[in-house]
Amino acid sequence: MLNIEVITGGMFCGKTTLLQKKIREAQKVEYFKTYVFKPSTDNRYSESSVVSHDGVEEDAIAVRHGMQIVHYVMQDELVSPEHKKVVFIDEAQFFDKILENVIQRLVILGCDVVIAGLDLDSNGRPFGGMPSAIAMATKIHKLTARCKCGNESYVTTNKNKKGIVQVGNEGYEPTCIKCFYNN
Ligand SMILES: [Zn+2]
Repeated sequence: MLNIEVITGGMFCGKTTLLQKKIREAQKVEYFKTYVFKPSTDNRYSESSVVSHDGVEEDAIAVRHGMQIVHYVMQDELVSPEHKKVVFIDEAQFFDKILENVIQRLVILGCDVVIAGLDLDSNGRPFGGMPSAIAMATKIHKLTARCKCGNESYVTTNKNKKGIVQVGNEGYEPTCIKCFYNN
């Protein structure tokens, strides 16, 4: 059975921590071959890591363009036909609309796909390729943090200015839907 699993929500809700747990679980399965990708600002493949807010790291391959994920996984031969490729993608919102294509191609290749990313930008708008990923998912985890008012968070707001969520965590806070729309 093929799975397209999506882990989503705002910043600080534990998406990367859950992704890392799933990576470690998959790595223990002998017939799984696992791959971890994240977006980079560089044009080439580079060694990188997926780091959670509490500092836990997993090795990852940084790619500039979503289709590089497909090419990388396609070129890598499995030891035997019984093996299965499981592809993890962190910060997937930055892969933009191409993510839809990437998911389709990976599933055609027989991969399980686990995607983590922000569902909304700091203006409360659906973010990059994540709306497609959520629609295509066979399983969705929508995680929350706490707004300062105590409600579960809905979006990540930028305390300094309104805009797209940038790399780095400074100045962002989890905000509930009530506080967000009252502002
Ligand atoms: Zn609130």
